[in-house]
Amino acid sequence: MVKAIDESSSEIVSFLRSIIRFNTVNPPGNELPLAQYIYDYMSREGVDCEVIESGDGRGNVIARLPGEDDSKRLLYLSHLDVVPAVNASLWSHDPFSGDVEGDWIYGRGALDCKSLVTAEAFSLIMLKRLGVKPKYTLIFASTADEEAGGWRGIGWIVSKFPEKVKADYVINEGGGLAIRGRGGRVIYLVDVCEKGYCNVKIRISGKGGHSSTPYTNGNALYLMGLAIKRLYEYNPPMYRFSLVEESVKRVFEGLAGLPGSIVARMLFSPMRPLALKVISRFNPNINRFLKSLMGLTIAPTIANSGEKENVIPSLAELVVNCRLLPGQDDKYVLSVIRDALSGIGGFEVEILGWFPASYSDIDLKFFNSMESTLKLLMPNIDVRLAPFVMPGSSDSRFLRSLGAKVYGFSPMNPNLNYGELMNLAHGVNEKIDVNSLLLSTKFLSVLPLIMNI
Ligand SMILES: [Zn+2]
Repeated sequence: MVKAIDESSSEIVSFLRSIIRFNTVNPPGNELPLAQYIYDYMSREGVDCEVIESGDGRGNVIARLPGEDDSKRLLYLSHLDVVPAVNASLWSHDPFSGDVEGDWIYGRGALDCKSLVTAEAFSLIMLKRLGVKPKYTLIFASTADEEAGGWRGIGWIVSKFPEKVKADYVINEGGGLAIRGRGGRVIYLVDVCEKGYCNVKIRISGKGGHSSTPYTNGNALYLMGLAIKRLYEYNPPMYRFSLVEESVKRVFEGLAGLPGSIVARMLFSPMRPLALKVISRFNPNINRFLKSLMGLTIAPTIANSGEKENVIPSLAELVVNCRLLPGQDDKYVLSVIRDALSGIGGFEVEILGWFPASYSDIDLKFFNSMESTLKLLMPNIDVRLAPFVMPGSSDSRFLRSLGAKVYGFSPMNPNLNYGELMNLAHGVNEKIDVNSLLLSTKFLSVLPLIMNI
């Protein structure tokens, strides 16, 4: 299998380049032509495949490879849409060209997540080509609309045709970053939990007045400034969630010189500020990331106020985007914001929409299967898996709602600093290296053959 994938590497690279050239910027998405292209490609290989339209040019493709045992199912999920490439002039390559330079393939979606679409599609294609049956039935679902909430993609399929995507285990985007640890050890992060999402509108009222006599505390803009400062400085109360503690512990255990359990214990005690200070000296990026994981986050994102240059505004509206840990809900968000803003004049808070966090417990059998697959592919490296909580969210929650254990994982080249590269996911010059693309393809092709669940 591994040899066959290496021999097909130029075909795999050119498939990724082709699908980057389909402009699937969401909105409007327009994923249908791409879904059709993938359908044609996989059908030609004899893979059982279908396109499901969800209206207005939105398309999803689902394929299925029967396993030796159909009582259990493994599903590979990915999405076809991408975010806009707003600063196209800053790109060194046209974001929809799929250009190759050295070992790198450039383009919007190269990382998020057309490389995963490619790796997942080729795992089914290669298994079919080589005539090897996976142990359990393998389903491929590459869907629309993830970047706008997934309601026209996997969310739509789950509500209309749940039986098509019903599975015991799911692999999706979100994980696969490699961290170099002590003694050359490589720790791969598996996304087991994604934070929830809540948008809140805060309406702040002042008295307003004439701008020639501004010395009043009735300026709604001034009050909004105070509110933003309060929210920025807000420190979430200590909130304990076992998967966060477990993932922090496992990551730090693997990193150089820091006994993980001690750091994890400090982070979840009143010594948290001190622990974060120590960690930031060691790695400033980790500090920011950890802080986002350990409680509710509140980010002001939209502000509106003022109508005329010489009128002190009497109303200001602020939208904040919050990310929630499991157990936190809209009522919790309201109480925290009211608490943070207490004492600031008249304000009203309104929930615009929200969904809770979702997670899958660590399934040891499946984790062992994933780890064994990695060890087979990288026999000379001490590879470990560590569960991780993602501060963002993806489509995983829809399949968790059907009872599947969903893990975000597609292993990246361990020799690259993907912590930095992941910032490119929605940014300028998004790219992926051939080594990572092939490693993910090999992982997803070998796992269905050796998994033991
Ligand atoms: Zn994505």
